[in-house]
Amino acid sequence: MTTTPTLNEPADPLDVRPTPLALLLLGRESDPRSERGVDCPGDLPAPSDPGLVERARAAKARLGEKVFILGHHYQRDEVIEFADVTGDSFKLARDAAARPEAEYIVFCGVHFMAESADILTSERQQVILPDLAAGCSMADMATAEQVAECWDVLTDAGVAGTTVPVSYMNSSADIKAFTGRHGGTICTSSNARRALEWAFAQGEKVLFLPDQHLGRNTAVLEMGLSLEDCVVYNPHKPGGGLTPEQLRAAKMILWRGHCSVHGRFTLDSVNEVRERVPGVNVLVHPECRHEVVEAADFVGSTEHIIKRLAEAPAGSKWAVGTELNLVRRLAKAHPDKEIVFLDRTVCFCSTMNRIDLPHLVWALESLADGKPVNRIQVDAETEHYAKLALEQMLALP
Ligand code: SF4
Repeated sequence: MTTTPTLNEPADPLDVRPTPLALLLLGRESDPRSERGVDCPGDLPAPSDPGLVERARAAKARLGEKVFILGHHYQRDEVIEFADVTGDSFKLARDAAARPEAEYIVFCGVHFMAESADILTSERQQVILPDLAAGCSMADMATAEQVAECWDVLTDAGVAGTTVPVSYMNSSADIKAFTGRHGGTICTSSNARRALEWAFAQGEKVLFLPDQHLGRNTAVLEMGLSLEDCVVYNPHKPGGGLTPEQLRAAKMILWRGHCSVHGRFTLDSVNEVRERVPGVNVLVHPECRHEVVEAADFVGSTEHIIKRLAEAPAGSKWAVGTELNLVRRLAKAHPDKEIVFLDRTVCFCSTMNRIDLPHLVWALESLADGKPVNRIQVDAETEHYAKLALEQMLALP
């Protein structure tokens, strides 16, 4: 996530110029505090190399059918240009599984997405993440150890036996495996309601991981639960910061995680854009805070946002609360509509943006030379249980 000082706000919030800080956040400088490290073990081409586009084309052509490039909706334009298919994380993982002839799946997305692709593709296929530093801050908010400890807390409170875990697709393979081990399901932002309905038919409570906002918005705004039915489990506090009585009384136990991109939008963003753009429709992703989703006119997954804007009448006005790369592309694709970013400050997914043309060129050229780099591999046991949870999602009524 990149924020420009408000004093230097560009007149057009879609007109964004890079700053030295932005370059660091976008992974073009070294950041020793990054959770997975920014440095690549290879010889990355310089971002200023004028031949990058040609090199990417040539490497892709050398690989032919052996490579299949997936581009997440939030990726930069320079990377999306080389994607064989674009989509959200689950769609992309399934697209990869449907291309068994592709020996290499190059995932231009983040770490948990590449893990899901590895889980769903065959053993013969290798999943490559062009920059290992492309993690997801939300997925990192729930570690396997923290979630195991939470389950112990639920067990001590006497509620684990009646609690069904529901984990958002945006979680690590470890968390998906935990979910499968405990009879739960994975969900996406498109099927969260169906997943919760299924879970409440299996048990009395849901442990929703790791995005508290998607869990709360779905339970309260779509299923009629009250805010009092929800509690937030904070992994950084003993017992999650909750008493056994609070756990016993709750229906939704929400993990204290959020998306650092969607969590940025506030009620002020909505009020400000309504003043700035009279007649605007506010369209947001359900990973946004509860009060933002409540104040918006429409809410939906990334695919929903894309479809709604495509179907909107010419001349209509839209303020969109999702990742900036996607909003900019949608604004370009629909010049007959006025599409603006919901916030006045810049808000990219900084980890997703680490995958840039130099990393893609490096990954493709290495593959073309027969030296795969940055392979993402989930171990067999984790894969087995994670698959159970993913299969449960596919079997949702
Ligand atoms: S947009 Fe949010 S949930 Fe998606 S990869 Fe970035 S930090 Fe993670």
